[in-house]
Amino acid sequence: MMFSLVDIGLNLAHDSFDHDRDRVVSEAVTAGVRHMVITGSSLESTRAAIAIARASPQLFRATAGIHPHHAREFADSEVQELRSLLLAPEVGAAGECGLDYFRDYSPHEDQERVFRLQLQLAVETGKPVFLHQRDGHDAFVGILRDYLPRLAGGVAHCFTGGERELRECLELGLSIGITGWICDERRGQHLRDLVRQIPLDRLMLETDAPYLLPRDLSPRPPHRRNEPKFLPHILATVAGCRGEPPTVVAAATTANALRFFGFEP
Ligand SMILES: [Zn+2]
Repeated sequence: MMFSLVDIGLNLAHDSFDHDRDRVVSEAVTAGVRHMVITGSSLESTRAAIAIARASPQLFRATAGIHPHHAREFADSEVQELRSLLLAPEVGAAGECGLDYFRDYSPHEDQERVFRLQLQLAVETGKPVFLHQRDGHDAFVGILRDYLPRLAGGVAHCFTGGERELRECLELGLSIGITGWICDERRGQHLRDLVRQIPLDRLMLETDAPYLLPRDLSPRPPHRRNEPKFLPHILATVAGCRGEPPTVVAAATTANALRFFGFEP
């Protein structure tokens, strides 16, 4: 069966794709992934994501942002550059930005400062936000609430939280991005039940490639690298958990993503 899908979170600028990026993209397109959003997680990866998107604007959008892991290195002198990157026509959202208290690579103070700064830039530039959050839900929601009324929307990318977190994200008006985490029979079990509670008009799909290779792929690829061509597998899992036809989930998630990231209709 053929779908037209959007991978809303793909780290295509990652160096693991340097030797075969074009092949990875063409195999994804062949598999039905007709649009991809390339995640920017630092100034450097954002510049690279925009360059890739600029070469094929019908296929790609980029995000422009600083991942919480990199918050400690982000200097106030770099705000102007981030603002101008955000204004590039290829950029569909601000981020990824948010809080990661799981890995804690940056002090919380830096993470919160750089998160607020990016929410403010998103408000100023009119871009929606691509949000990352792990183990910091309450602080995340507390900060987000200050900006939401002025934001052009947000998606909680790679949502892996519990029921209360999901309910609060939905109440805030956020869309929810689901990755291959849901294909993990151990740590993804709770998501299989929760995914039914996401309204179809708030759901989007993503691989987060090269990370988060779905655990139940068969046959398993010889390398550990995830690729956007595996998005239909995530679609099948999500549709199965929801008890809906894959065609219905594909059409809705694609329409949501095209609108959210500003692809031409
Ligand atoms: Zn993330």
